[in-house]
Amino acid sequence: MTFHARPLRLPSNRPNLPHFARRYLMRIPILMYHQIDVPPPRGTPMRGMVVAPSSFAWQMRMLALLGYRGLSMRDLMPYLLGQKTGKVAGITFDDGYCNTLDQALPVLKARGFTATSYVVSGAIGGTNAWDAAQGVPAARLMDLAQLRAWLAAGMDVGSHTRDHADLAKLDEAAARAQMVGAKSDLEQALGVAVEHFCYPYGRYLPQQADWAREAGYLTATTVARGRVVTTDNLWRLPRVLVSRATHPGYFFLKLVTGYEDRYR
Ligand SMILES: [Zn+2]
Repeated sequence: MTFHARPLRLPSNRPNLPHFARRYLMRIPILMYHQIDVPPPRGTPMRGMVVAPSSFAWQMRMLALLGYRGLSMRDLMPYLLGQKTGKVAGITFDDGYCNTLDQALPVLKARGFTATSYVVSGAIGGTNAWDAAQGVPAARLMDLAQLRAWLAAGMDVGSHTRDHADLAKLDEAAARAQMVGAKSDLEQALGVAVEHFCYPYGRYLPQQADWAREAGYLTATTVARGRVVTTDNLWRLPRVLVSRATHPGYFFLKLVTGYEDRYR
């Protein structure tokens, strides 16, 4: 008796992937964090954006246990382009808070993970002054020495404009200047390529995604919900928000299932 067994092989060109594989295997969650710190008092605006260090630690442990590698946008690129396949998750931190260096970096290093910090080039060593009007407490942002320590640990720096600008409210020249200027400012200050962008507040106009590409960025992330498929526009990437209230079961659902994808 002859048994015709076909080798199990996942083709790398996307259109030929079986439907179930496209749906369940090829989704890449890009986790979106802001601050990793002890939470401010109850009632503080945007308190949910501050994830406790102990929560971040179990989240990274769960990633590892589930077989995911946590990667910076730089390290995620071959997967986003469909050149590599694997169980990977992007890890991003918006605004460049000192507490991500102090609290998140040791956890990432211990797991062998990398992450991208989206830095506001005009606020290096400053605070999140753009949040002050909403009553959000000031939190320190990494200075140049701290950003260099972040990079030296194998992490990536991305751009988050010069002034945490609401791009949707700017004219074309001003919006382009925010994108181009932040990239060159950061590259000159840090001596590394800054190739990944994040829209402040997640706000942008459709044509601004093209401007991000034209500014030389390889990707741009938004606050749209969902996991990435490799056919997505690289300058309009959705992310998976992790907040203070994201308990383990919820984190698991967001990561592994289509929970977030129904918002796409
Ligand atoms: Zn931001």
